Amino acid sequence: MVLGDQLAQPHPALEALHPSRDALWMAEVPGESLHVPSHTARTVLFLSAMRHFARRQREDGWTLHYHALGEHRHHTLESVLEADLRRLRPCEVQVLQPGEIRVQRGLEAACRSAGVTLTVLSDPLFLVSLEAFSEWAGARKQPRMEHFYRDQRRRLDVLMEDGEPAGGQWNFDAENRRHFGREGPGRLPTPKAFPPDALTRKVIQTIAEQLPDLPGRCEDFDWPVTPAQAREALDDFIAHRLPYFGRYQDAMWGGEPWLYHARLSAALNLHLLGPREVIAAAEGAWHSGHTPLAAAEGFVRQILGWREYVRGLYFHFGERWHEWNALEAGEPLPALYWDANTEMHCLHEAIGQTLRLGYAHHIQRLMVTGLFAQLLGVQPAAIHGWYLGIYVDAVEWVEMPNVIGMSQHADDGRMASKPYVATGRYIQRMSNYCTQCRYHPTEALGDDACPFTTLYWDFLDRHRDRFANHPRTALQWKHVEKMDTERLQAIRTQAAAIRERLRQGERL
Ligand code: FAD
Ligand code: SF4
Repeated sequence: MVLGDQLAQPHPALEALHPSRDALWMAEVPGESLHVPSHTARTVLFLSAMRHFARRQREDGWTLHYHALGEHRHHTLESVLEADLRRLRPCEVQVLQPGEIRVQRGLEAACRSAGVTLTVLSDPLFLVSLEAFSEWAGARKQPRMEHFYRDQRRRLDVLMEDGEPAGGQWNFDAENRRHFGREGPGRLPTPKAFPPDALTRKVIQTIAEQLPDLPGRCEDFDWPVTPAQAREALDDFIAHRLPYFGRYQDAMWGGEPWLYHARLSAALNLHLLGPREVIAAAEGAWHSGHTPLAAAEGFVRQILGWREYVRGLYFHFGERWHEWNALEAGEPLPALYWDANTEMHCLHEAIGQTLRLGYAHHIQRLMVTGLFAQLLGVQPAAIHGWYLGIYVDAVEWVEMPNVIGMSQHADDGRMASKPYVATGRYIQRMSNYCTQCRYHPTEALGDDACPFTTLYWDFLDRHRDRFANHPRTALQWKHVEKMDTERLQAIRTQAAAIRERLRQGERL
């Protein structure tokens, strides 16, 4: 069985199989696009990449049982699999470790019910096995990314020189993370685009007929859908954007969704590309003098560090991720997350771009959409459902820790020692959004106050007990401790009014 995010060619599970004896099985089901509303472009990407994979496997002589959307009546993967197990009577089903525990539970139930053995194979397309991660995390009180990353650099000998980190440092943050200044980014390289071929156009048509109510649009769909295209996208990134990646990785600019970002997460998560070749390409660019070490390190840290780390954490804590709500957040997700209809220009830009492309870069996800949800106090399940459906690269193993842990702090600090919270001034510094906004990032009170800034002070106030005496957060909370009571009360009132207006569906 090959799932939609396991499309490597050659596929690692096929090495031990033979077309004369074994068959492949794949299915497209509406349930996977509806259990959380999945962006049209995300759905197109998965189905198109699956159909390209299937075509190639047939050409290679494999028998393939493929259930296309609209050609069967089943809603879930579990149901279509169970029906086929009863019809085809295989002696065993093998699948690579699914990227979402819910999916694995469904497959287990289908196989159990049909009396067929299910074997879940460990996925060699990740660099760290789940067992190795759990052993590493289990031995630590606080399994932090930085320690994990350094261990992996040593273990895999990546950007190392004589056992020491290249350049004598593990981290080049001081050279990275700049903003563009008033003059803006200037002329940016245009990323290589992959306009829909005939097969993708057919998928777009099927989705328009079968799943017409999905959020988001796909007129601008240009994601790589085959391993060959993904490799071209990687080459394009290494040649034209990697040298500036680190420097501007946290910067944002109106109307510029890509900046110097890789646009590789979807290809990586669908296994059209493997992390080994991506890391080798970045390291090679540094060795050849094409890319400064700070840029190569900043990028390698994302792939070898963050990506492997969040996967390990997802499976390490398992279904508990769904239960956590450490900050007792209870607000519904505001409607503006589905239509970008807001006067808050940063949210209008980040969400508008997301609905158009299924993409926003890390800081837009963390410090605009994620920050607003956290300051407002949106229920973790609601914001998780949005992120899981709305980005083309979303698979639960990577989305969940980033949202519940890094962005919402609902995991009680298991992932990050302190919440990523800031006023609108952070957004003002890192982008040009505020120059086009009717609100003022420095103001917390009054009609022109930036809602981020009002909600920031209210957040500090609401969570004093938890953070004011913690060594990592005390300094940040000290400012609210010093605020005079009258001002604080006015902020509480204004924050409550913001929440009420959003609950009522009013435009803010
Ligand atoms: P770049 O910014 O160019 O980064 C290069 C690569 O590093 C990415 O392709 C990705 O594979 C990896 N990477 C970078 N940051 C992370 C991270 N924090 N965790 C894991 N891998 C990382 N990434 C997803 O792949 N799927 C998600 O569903 C997802 N949801 C997120 C939700 C939130 C709230 C946040 C804060 C981050 C999320 N990320 C997710 C991480 C990151 O935002 C995306 O990987 C990145 O924006 C993808 O764009 P890019 O390929 O241009 O990445
Ligand atoms: Fe966003 Fe506030 Fe800046 Fe407006 S003023 S763009 S709401 S941070």
